[in-house]
Amino acid sequence: MELLEAEKTHVYRFGNKSADGNSKMRNLLGGKGANLAEMSSIGIPVPPGFTITTEVCTEYNLLGKDAVVEMIKSEVEASIDNIEKLMESSFGDKENPLLVSVRSGARVSMPGMMDTVLNLGINDEVVVGLAKKTNNEHFAWDSYRRFIQMYGGVVLGMKPASKEDIDPFEEIMENLKGKRGIQLDTEFTVQDLKDLVYDFKEAVKKRTGHHFPSNPWDQLWGAIVAVFNSWNGDRAIYYRNMHGYPEDWGTAVNVQAMVYGNMGDNSGTGVCFTRDAGTGENVFNGEYLINAQGEDVVAGVRTPQQITKLGSQRWAELAKIEETERLEKYPSLEELMPSIYAELNSYQQKLEDHYRDMQDMEFTIQDGKLWILQTRNGKRTGAAMVKIAVDLLKEGKINDKEALLRIEPNKLDELLHPVFDPKALKSAHVIAQGLPASPGAATGKIVFFADEANKFKNSILVRIETSPEDLEGMHIAKGILTARGGMTSHAAVVARGMGKCCVSGAGALKINYKARTLTVDGHEYHEGDWISLNGSTGNIIEGKVATREPELTGEFAEIMELSDKYAVMKVRTNADTPNDARVARSFGAQGIGLTRTEHMFFEVDRIKAMREMILADTVKGRKLALQELLPMQREDFEGIFEAMEGLPVTIRLLDPPLHEFVPHQLATQKELADEMHISLQAVKNKVAELEEFNPMLGHRGCRLGNTYPEITEMQTRAIIEAALNLKEKGMTVVPEIMVPLVGTLKEFEAQEKIIRETANTVFKERNDKVEFLVGTMIEIPRAALMADKIAEKADFFSFGTNDLTQMTFGYSRDDAGKFLPIYIQKGILKVDPFEVLDQEGVGQLVKLGTERGRSVKPNLKVGICGEHGGEPSSVEFCYNTGMNYVSCSPFRVPIARLVSAQAVIKERI
Ligand code: ADP
Ligand code: MG
Ligand code: MG
Repeated sequence: MELLEAEKTHVYRFGNKSADGNSKMRNLLGGKGANLAEMSSIGIPVPPGFTITTEVCTEYNLLGKDAVVEMIKSEVEASIDNIEKLMESSFGDKENPLLVSVRSGARVSMPGMMDTVLNLGINDEVVVGLAKKTNNEHFAWDSYRRFIQMYGGVVLGMKPASKEDIDPFEEIMENLKGKRGIQLDTEFTVQDLKDLVYDFKEAVKKRTGHHFPSNPWDQLWGAIVAVFNSWNGDRAIYYRNMHGYPEDWGTAVNVQAMVYGNMGDNSGTGVCFTRDAGTGENVFNGEYLINAQGEDVVAGVRTPQQITKLGSQRWAELAKIEETERLEKYPSLEELMPSIYAELNSYQQKLEDHYRDMQDMEFTIQDGKLWILQTRNGKRTGAAMVKIAVDLLKEGKINDKEALLRIEPNKLDELLHPVFDPKALKSAHVIAQGLPASPGAATGKIVFFADEANKFKNSILVRIETSPEDLEGMHIAKGILTARGGMTSHAAVVARGMGKCCVSGAGALKINYKARTLTVDGHEYHEGDWISLNGSTGNIIEGKVATREPELTGEFAEIMELSDKYAVMKVRTNADTPNDARVARSFGAQGIGLTRTEHMFFEVDRIKAMREMILADTVKGRKLALQELLPMQREDFEGIFEAMEGLPVTIRLLDPPLHEFVPHQLATQKELADEMHISLQAVKNKVAELEEFNPMLGHRGCRLGNTYPEITEMQTRAIIEAALNLKEKGMTVVPEIMVPLVGTLKEFEAQEKIIRETANTVFKERNDKVEFLVGTMIEIPRAALMADKIAEKADFFSFGTNDLTQMTFGYSRDDAGKFLPIYIQKGILKVDPFEVLDQEGVGQLVKLGTERGRSVKPNLKVGICGEHGGEPSSVEFCYNTGMNYVSCSPFRVPIARLVSAQAVIKERI
């Protein structure tokens, strides 16, 4: 065993058109490392380097620094040696120095989660050698000041002291710029840079109490350890929790020879996408900066330029910049460095073809030579995800199964959110325009700090620029607006990943954090003021703008059609109104799996009749009140049946405890007493009588129908009469009457008897008939256990997994909010079982209930109607359990349709 441990490779090399690893090894090498290896193997120019595996990170968490350094030391030294040979330079050498970058990279890309250190290996002596070697003193000192800045921030913890403050190094730079009367960091003279290095080091010493480490090897180990530590930083943990990634994945560390984009006007750096990450359009696009290094483009220090001429012209139009000015000040890479552009263009093509997906790449031009530093499947909006999958399918690059599997179900949600109402947009007052960084419509109140995003129910986070610390707030805010930064800025990339509306780089905005104000054209806006963002156009609009429901069209519709080709399990909807039913149908619902009848009773004129029914002391009194409700219910059902014409509609009989319907306030109690000509005391008595210690386990569901059969009678009559009325008009209606909260066969039988007898009575009265089913919800554990008995009588089962979860866990749905978040935080539960079906536990009852039911009735129709019916992993489970359908809220229908298809495809692979 020990021998095996010792022989295990901890370090994988890449460079010079070869590599130890490949793209399939992302669990071990992290996404970045695996792709660096892959790129190197297929002949893309990648600076040579090596990857320390994620397993080492896990070891580090167990054993600590010393043991782990001991474990990998010789491998790291040999690998540095290898880079030295390939780059013909030496780490720490005073004449011919090799500098490296230290980059983190987990198996999934976590934007900004782990920080990168560039130019590592530099010190007071090396900088002199580097200047001499490159004959570029400015570059050497610029690299040095950048290194101290990054190492100080990432490894030595030199972060801003409070959120209103700026970065301590930025502050020193800003001061110097002010003193020197310059604007850009490229304008610093060599002496300025030397002063900055000195001041930076002083700041480090003052703040940390230690000298800045000058030994390159100390620097290297410090950075490696910092990458490991960042895996357990707050931000990383937050991101992991948000996505449910386990802690033991760990991060890899990539150490790579530096290539320099800051060597002058023949150098630069940039980010590019093989397709548009916002819309999915098949156009190569991206941004770059001349004479800049790594993060400069993303951080929005200077206005980045566009890579393609087309992109540049589009950008200039938005920014209202004339063509002559554009060409002079902001030329595209295509125009400025045509041969480098051509080379880059060929790599982007090659990489997209190789990975068969949209790529997000980083590149650096060092003195006229192009290097690629990263590629990964690009983050994209829901709309882009759908368009790219459909386009790749049409281009013959992927097949239809792959296209469907490319769709992340939950991301479709973005396409199902409201967009601005075009009418409201016409009268909207646009106060400024930024870049359309992430599409969508957002409206909310201004907040200036990410940790205050939850100050208002709907907030828009307004920042000069965002940083990884802002992640949580960005998640909470409805939209994000930044004054600085381009289409590849942190805000833009993260927002697109989250599917959040974002407008970036709105240069006209003046933001004052201390005063908490936003000024545009002399007009001041404050925290709490409403603004609206159009992430598709970049428009920033004053006030609140009305939104409109989305539609299922274009590529989205194509994906849905494709889904139906593979899907076996049907998707129904939970709908209580004709409007819900229509929306769901437009999204492809194949029927209704749950209509809750109680919601219908809450309207003003109905609640009165309902209360009279409840307050009545005699059967006769109750029947009289129900008589009033009958026509209303019948009308409701007619509306729903009509909207779902030709498709099955499951209607659940009255479910909630009656105390939910009676007035609890004195004033309303008095009103009711007056109306019914009874005493206030009588009302009070009845309310007290209905009071229950545990209403969830109380007098509800079929227990109501079995104690007050006249309720079931009335509801059945309403359903059957509505069906007959529509039949008369020539429509096809398929009612399915569902008895809730059944635990014993007798409970069901008693209800079924009433339902069938009532239906027969109506049939006789009307001298007409309709087909209908009588089934039950399986939502009490006992019902799942007794499913074979119940199935002898029931025409169908519908798993009510909300109640089933409640009763299986013994968690009250109404009170679980007090402890579930803590349980999840502590890892006692992985997820909220009311959101994601607990397949392990509750799932057993679902499986068992289905099996036992079908053991007596092989064709028993089985579905689900809890909240889980629209949650991807639960929908997949339902398919694997053999259900005939899932039912979910209208806006989840497309998601469930997709997952239903994906489940079939996954099963066949
Ligand atoms: P992130 O995961 O946050 O994107 P990266 O490790 O990709 O971090 O690095 C940050 C920036 O530094 C990127 O722009 C990247 O291209 C650049 N960079 C990283 N390593 C090198 C290197 N060896 N030479 C030049 N630039 C580098
Ligand atoms: Mg990167
Ligand atoms: Mg229920």
